[in-house]
Amino acid sequence: MTEPFKHRKATKHDSRRVNLRNTLDLVSIQGSTSRAEISRLTGLTRAAVSSLVSELIEEGLVRELGQGTSAGGKPPTMVALNERGRDIIALDLGRRPFQGSLVDLSGHIRHRVEAATPDLRAEAALEATIDLIADLMARSEAPVLGIGVGTPGVVNEAGVVVEAANLGWHQLDLGTAIRNAFSLPASIANDAQLAALAEVRRHAGAGDNVIVVKLGRGVGAGVVVGARLHRGEHSAAGEIGHVQVVTGGEACTCGNFGCLETVASVPAIMRSVGADPDHVPWDAIALAAVAGEVELRAALRAAGRYIGAVLAHAVALLDITRIVIAPEIRNGGDELVDEIRAELATRVLPATAGLIEVELSPLGSDLVLAGAATAVLTDRLGVLLR
Ligand SMILES: [Zn+2]
Repeated sequence: MTEPFKHRKATKHDSRRVNLRNTLDLVSIQGSTSRAEISRLTGLTRAAVSSLVSELIEEGLVRELGQGTSAGGKPPTMVALNERGRDIIALDLGRRPFQGSLVDLSGHIRHRVEAATPDLRAEAALEATIDLIADLMARSEAPVLGIGVGTPGVVNEAGVVVEAANLGWHQLDLGTAIRNAFSLPASIANDAQLAALAEVRRHAGAGDNVIVVKLGRGVGAGVVVGARLHRGEHSAAGEIGHVQVVTGGEACTCGNFGCLETVASVPAIMRSVGADPDHVPWDAIALAAVAGEVELRAALRAAGRYIGAVLAHAVALLDITRIVIAPEIRNGGDELVDEIRAELATRVLPATAGLIEVELSPLGSDLVLAGAATAVLTDRLGVLLR
């Protein structure tokens, strides 16, 4: 059995709070475990572990499973995470309409709702967000641990969307509005950054460095370095959508010209083949029927080349070789990923090119919801979803 906590063995100087978090995280990693095993893995005494586990059971975060198998002597009572002990409200404001979900402590989505209004203007968006949370609160069957929100744009630590250029949101204070309306802790971050958090959790222990590129109304990336989300000096790490890739190109919502978003966002790809992104579904099959398959493939490949060109710089700067692409265009991902991979291979050091892995996100469109739930779990309990 692996012993993931050896490196952070608790000492007598640790506070009870830290020990509670470590115990809960360990129970979450192990799936099912015993007090004796927790004691062995953390270095805490049996008496201390019993007291910690009792408190976690009392709080409804851990439950007893019954007796395990004995290695000689009395069989141990097994304990596990009480998945249904709390609900987490997770929102994705990057999708249209906005998506909301109730997520349990194991990361399983229990219920989904979507916003009634497709209106994306700041005031209406804020109202729709509050309504969505209220709807989910009414449906929750367990105490709500917190609210996690993934949103497009640059989001500061206080939960203010400083700037979401392609939605026209400026200084939109989601954090204060949500906390005032529900008196619950809220974890609010850029959607691509949360997507990256979800990806690194999915690969817990395997890959500590990853770049996730989210391709929707805009193009954004989330960067995880050493298993930690890199938010950057001004929370704007990963804003690759506004890097200029076409000199003298099309006007961008940010005020510049020829940004990556003007040629590689889903609406840009659709417009390049003459399809209206507001009326044709964001689905390659539906789009091919409107625009022609050959044209669509060419447009996806062109977008892939631009994205690959920008990512080459990120790979060179950070030496991160695992890249996950999360496109919001259904059925068009493989074409994009192939072209991004090919473009990257031609633009980086040949020795590095062979090491780069580019894959399509297996979590698909739920990546941001998973990341939002992970952020709440981590912020509130110090636990990672696995
Ligand atoms: Zn721009």
